[in-house]
Amino acid sequence: FISPFSLTGGPVGRHNAIAVFVRDLSEQKRLERMREDFVANASHELRTPLAALTGFIETLQGPARDDPKAREQFLAIMREQADRMKRLTDALLSLSRIEMRAHVRPTESVDLAETARYAVEMMRSMADEHGVALELAIDEEPLMVRGDSDELVQLVDNLIENAIKYGGGGGRVHVSARRGEADDTAVIAVQDFGRGIAPEHVPRLTERFYRVDVEESRARQGTGLGLAIVKHIVARHRGRLTVRSELGAGSTFSVRLPLSSTKAKVG
Ligand code: ADP
Repeated sequence: FISPFSLTGGPVGRHNAIAVFVRDLSEQKRLERMREDFVANASHELRTPLAALTGFIETLQGPARDDPKAREQFLAIMREQADRMKRLTDALLSLSRIEMRAHVRPTESVDLAETARYAVEMMRSMADEHGVALELAIDEEPLMVRGDSDELVQLVDNLIENAIKYGGGGGRVHVSARRGEADDTAVIAVQDFGRGIAPEHVPRLTERFYRVDVEESRARQGTGLGLAIVKHIVARHRGRLTVRSELGAGSTFSVRLPLSSTKAKVG
């Protein structure tokens, strides 16, 4: 347990000590509750497809045993449920790996313009399938940051995937990588022109398993973890994630990262 003394860096009066102690306890309680919620949610998310699988196996062993048509149909559903469990466990693993590295500074030198270009190419076929035009605008010059190249690609991928899945109704998705106004930052933005997100949902989007519409997320093969992963990648890179959204007009997810100095100092 953290003592109130080490928190304040020296001895404190009795009342201060008690105040810090109480705050510390409630913070611990909050974290504990978050952890419990997470485990409960993850278990629930896994149990649902698992229950479906068990049900279909029993049916295949019993009533549907000699019905080839039903067998084909059930096997196809079972495949979908197994895929869903795979997506979820992959996402959980990804999240836990990023969290484990939370306090380790990423050290690669990464060009964000290149990252954006690569992510757009990776998502091109998904955009085509959804009839969405995927546009890219990047600065001519490289945008060098200290980072983890795999995580940064995953970050941009997740944002583009969401823009296509939930904002694709707008017909196009615009990705940009530019130098920020402050000049010492790089900004990657993913904009869609879809239906937008109601303001009450926006602050909660990066919570694990939070979805505006659970059924829609499931139907679109979502896990509810994509933006939680984004949030953790951004935090590990000491960046900032902002969301602007207007109902009926679309959403923009922007990630701002500190540029690493690329120009050699003269003199
Ligand atoms: P999921 O796996 O469900 O996509 P995410 O964490 O990536 O989970 O996103 C959480 C929810 O935020 C989604 O289920 C969706 O309701 C909403 N959302 C995310 N991106 C967008 C977007 N570009 N437009 C509208 N809604 C979005």
